[in-house]
Amino acid sequence: MLADKDRIFTNLYGYQPWNVDAAIMRGDWDNTKDLMARGQDAIIDVIKASGLRGRGGAGFPTGMKWSFMPKEPKPDRPSFLVINADESEPGSCKDREIIRHDPHKLIEGALIAGYAMRARAAYIYIRGEYIREAETLFAAVAEAYDRGFVGKNACGSGYNFDVFVHRGAGAYICGEETAMLESLEGKKGQPRLKPPFPAGAGLYGCPTTVNNVESIAVAPTILRRGAEWFSSFGRENNKGTKLFQISGHVDRPCVVEEAMSISFRELIEKHCGGIRGGWDNLLAVIPGGSSVPLVPAREIIDAPMDFDGLKAVGSGLGTAAVIVMDKSTDIVRAISRLSYFYKHESCGQCTPCREGTGWMWRVMERLRTGDADVSEIDTLHQVTKQVEGHTICALGDAAAWPIQGLIRHFRPELERRIRERGGDLAPMMEAAE
Ligand code: SF4
Repeated sequence: MLADKDRIFTNLYGYQPWNVDAAIMRGDWDNTKDLMARGQDAIIDVIKASGLRGRGGAGFPTGMKWSFMPKEPKPDRPSFLVINADESEPGSCKDREIIRHDPHKLIEGALIAGYAMRARAAYIYIRGEYIREAETLFAAVAEAYDRGFVGKNACGSGYNFDVFVHRGAGAYICGEETAMLESLEGKKGQPRLKPPFPAGAGLYGCPTTVNNVESIAVAPTILRRGAEWFSSFGRENNKGTKLFQISGHVDRPCVVEEAMSISFRELIEKHCGGIRGGWDNLLAVIPGGSSVPLVPAREIIDAPMDFDGLKAVGSGLGTAAVIVMDKSTDIVRAISRLSYFYKHESCGQCTPCREGTGWMWRVMERLRTGDADVSEIDTLHQVTKQVEGHTICALGDAAAWPIQGLIRHFRPELERRIRERGGDLAPMMEAAE
């Protein structure tokens, strides 16, 4: 279990105030000027050496992402850092804990990351429903300006850096990085075709890096404690500590910081009081937020909770939003509900997603009640394969993968419902022909 001394987020549960004085007592804003004095490339090198991979779901190496930004921004094309605090993935609830209880970690991280990538300003895009969190963030940014931590000559470093907080209006798709840029520019939040990638042409057509809240908030601690310290946790290629968000059928759902690569069993036993009704009652787990495929109980129990460990069981770490389902769950209904979510949140730009998400949901609903033909299971699977990878953004994949996971692991349950509802419709359909 991760020792308290190794936790980055020491006020995750809000036992202490979030304000700047309490943050300074916790070690934030401690000689930030010196951290910046190490130099921009040196900061990026430390983040690269730490092995930090993006905490928003994709897991792209953070230091490498920062290094894509221009080394000498042109005066008429400043660089920007955009921080993704949209956190709309069902099951995800870690960034809100950082923002409401430890916002100065994020603001200090924004300054350091922004400085390292030679950005002029950071925009923190926070989802509209996070009303109290946004209030805290606005107040924390104002405190940072008052103390001279950001703004002109930030922390006395001679570097000018602004931080803006922008509230979204509640669309899931604005969590996609290019849709977020459109939304920040005041347009309808719809993903852009890539390339060009944001590092080349992002916000207002300027070089931009979009990072998740957690990826940015851990940066100052990594610089203070060193890349070796951070990379001493987790397996090769899966380094560091991570906020896990465990919801569903455990005794004590929680958000907790743990070492990467902890096994699922240890995570649940140590922090959540076990599975409701005991381990034999576990049915399946969605380990990374609603867009990754579910994993049945027997495969997840000893799996390491990291990027590679969950990929090996056909799923993904995503945002580490672990949704636990015991045997009382109607698994077909649960996945059908997720299909409805993706149908509702499709922005409608591309045909496979706009038409496919609605079609998949309607078939899922018939599979839920058993009012379908056995052959439709394969048809549904084929359609998910035609949506996956054929859309502008990853929402198409996100809609397809949960259904693929269900068919892969719970096909007998789908067939049972069809049989119990009145059997296979194929003979009837043949007779009708
Ligand atoms: Fe919009 Fe869906 Fe296409 Fe993404 S995949 S751009 S959400 S229609």
